[in-house]
Amino acid sequence: MMLPSREGAHDDEGTMSPADGLAPAKQRQRWATLVDSINAARSQYYQADAPTLSDAEYDALFAELVDLELRFPELASGESPTQTVGGERSEMFEPVEHLQRMYSLDNAFDEGELRAWLDRVEKALGRVPDLLCELKIDGLAVDAVYRDGALASLATRGDGRVGEDVTYNSRFIPAVPQRLVPSAGRVVPRLLEVRGEIFFPVADFDRINGEQLDLGLPAFANPRNTAAGTLRQRVDRRELELGAVRAEGRIGERAEARVARLQAELDRALTRLRGLRLTVHGIGAVEGIAISRQSEGYDVLASLGLPVSQQAKVHADGDGALAFISYFGEHRHDVEHEIDGVVIKVDDIALQEQLGETSRAPRWAIAYKYPPEVVRTKLLDIQVNVGRTGRVTPFAVMQPVRVAGSTVSMATLHNAYEVDRKGVLIGDTVFLRKAGDVIPEVLGPVVDARDGSERAFAMPTHCPECGSELRPAKQGDKDIRCPNARSCPAQMRERLFHVASRGAFDVEGLGYKAAVALLECGLVEDEGDLFLLGADDLLQCPFFTREPGRGEVGTQLSENARVMLANLDASRGQPLWRVLVALSIRHVGPTAAQALARRFGSIDAIVAAGVGELAETDGVGGVIAEAVVEWFDEPWHRDIVDKWRRGGVRMADEAAPAGPQPLAGVTVVITGSLEGFTRDSAAAAVTDLGGKVASSVSGKTDLVVAGENAGSKYDKALALGVPVVGLPGFTALLVDGLEAALTHRVEGP
Ligand code: NAD
Repeated sequence: MMLPSREGAHDDEGTMSPADGLAPAKQRQRWATLVDSINAARSQYYQADAPTLSDAEYDALFAELVDLELRFPELASGESPTQTVGGERSEMFEPVEHLQRMYSLDNAFDEGELRAWLDRVEKALGRVPDLLCELKIDGLAVDAVYRDGALASLATRGDGRVGEDVTYNSRFIPAVPQRLVPSAGRVVPRLLEVRGEIFFPVADFDRINGEQLDLGLPAFANPRNTAAGTLRQRVDRRELELGAVRAEGRIGERAEARVARLQAELDRALTRLRGLRLTVHGIGAVEGIAISRQSEGYDVLASLGLPVSQQAKVHADGDGALAFISYFGEHRHDVEHEIDGVVIKVDDIALQEQLGETSRAPRWAIAYKYPPEVVRTKLLDIQVNVGRTGRVTPFAVMQPVRVAGSTVSMATLHNAYEVDRKGVLIGDTVFLRKAGDVIPEVLGPVVDARDGSERAFAMPTHCPECGSELRPAKQGDKDIRCPNARSCPAQMRERLFHVASRGAFDVEGLGYKAAVALLECGLVEDEGDLFLLGADDLLQCPFFTREPGRGEVGTQLSENARVMLANLDASRGQPLWRVLVALSIRHVGPTAAQALARRFGSIDAIVAAGVGELAETDGVGGVIAEAVVEWFDEPWHRDIVDKWRRGGVRMADEAAPAGPQPLAGVTVVITGSLEGFTRDSAAAAVTDLGGKVASSVSGKTDLVVAGENAGSKYDKALALGVPVVGLPGFTALLVDGLEAALTHRVEGP
């Protein structure tokens, strides 16, 4: 969708029909409905920081309105949202008149729309100008005015002419310089008005939403609303109220509780403000500096101590801009903040002036929008799933919706407490978020969309599969479990499936359906029998035989069954840690299992060790140690181990010749793919030399090894100053140790 200028409706492009007569009543009505819906959505979004529509839905309504007004230009009055910058000022704040107008941006949603804009620009200028490509930060637009180097005002965009005064709050935001700090040789301009985006890094968005839910408040629908809700707080009023209550000097429990509550609210507001960040991406009124290119302007701003984006890049043509768009489309989540697109600007300021603006947006810039990552959908039901350790997990069943490149219809809700915390009811319209590869998450309900037919979810009291009474494993646990681990069909199915999973024995051919068939045909009582299975057994079950036709047993094994048997056979010699993972001991994943295997070397040694000894293992700790001991205390669990042993599964690692441990005490994080290594073999190469492989980057990490397509861990390493190396550094690490690896340290992006 592109918003042409009003003049565009009559321009020489020939793409739009001129107004021939008045719009029919039906179109007028539709126009009025669209304007009402858009204005209502704007008010929720800009004033209340609590949208009721997803951005994609809003954009669709807006596109329809633009289209309607192009067909019937007389509908487009100055009041239409297509002619105004959305974001009326709230009465809560003092007005601030911007020195120069702030605009919105027109959008392009695909290459065709972007090229159409480029064509218009080229036509108007007679040539293709240099294009400055920037990330479109999903934050809140602000205007900062510096007079003689001191911050005179910070304001929101408002309606583009008058914004809301948030100068008071700016003093708590270290990212907004109170004074310009010029680098050597640079003179502070008398007047400088800059525009930028206030935002939270993604991690803070998630944390703040968690806090909101804990406080019984609705989660923010997107990072922009989180930043806006934070910046647009009346901290001064909170301070005054606290001061007044204190001054009253009342004593007693109630008065103290009130002071404590107000203080806590103020502290939280200030802490959140401190976390806000700023990136400057525009220049308004200036006196005392001359700038001929926007990109050059950013260098000047940076030299005055203002935060500008490191990712902005000038490209000579549309292909360059499209390559930029495509790169960040793929690396959208490698950036510390959310982006909802890329902004392409004509770099030359004189050309910008030549192109000018419409009443809503500059003609010299366009926002290319990426597909949305927050959408709205209907929560049809909440069902529960019984996992392999008996944990009963509620999950949302939703109207299928396309988000971040895939269709989503289910999302875990973790436990009943979480359902309650999110405040969702069955039948609610909910905001759903899926960022790239991240697991889909229900953010919360759109309360305004309720019609009274919604109903609360009740966690079942009995296992939906075996009828056992559900209970928490320990008092105070938020999760409840089905205690019938031995014979609950759901748990058995999940455990069988787990034995075959990649992190355990990695048995190809033993998928979910095969697991169900093994149980239903009675070929296994539980996972213990897996390694006692032979071809004759499988031939008893139609699922595993070739072309049997409607449930008949064939005479030959299917290809899948053969693969499964061969893989089970190969699994008999797997290392001990995989055996441990396959046993489905609570809390024992690959990391703990590897630590145990390294320390004890055999199942028998693990069984013989007590909680204390197990807990001393690096990377294990008390909770896991207790879970291990509890697991082996159960006789039928020991039967599983015995059956596997009888079935030929190796229960001890071959005593590795205690080689040198040059990486003892070294903690490494591996991210991305390294040529010549799988994820596991790269980790094993480090642990074999005594090093530790951690899953996340922290101050304790000695080295981050970043391969191809390294993700956010790479950014985190740079942010924390942890050294990063690529494949050459990794090889040096394995051959010559940490110091040698550090000589291959790579620079930032
Ligand atoms: P916009 O967000 O699409 O684009 C304009 C803004 O982009 C500018 O004001 C600026 O602050 C920001 N921006 C970020 N990075 C930038 C950069 N590098 N250079 C220049 N500007 C940059 O337009 P808008 O008018 O602020 O808002 C409209 C959009 O807001 C809609 O497309 C929709 O996504 C959302 N919206 C949603 C609802 C809803 O109900 N969900 C309602 C209103 C608006």
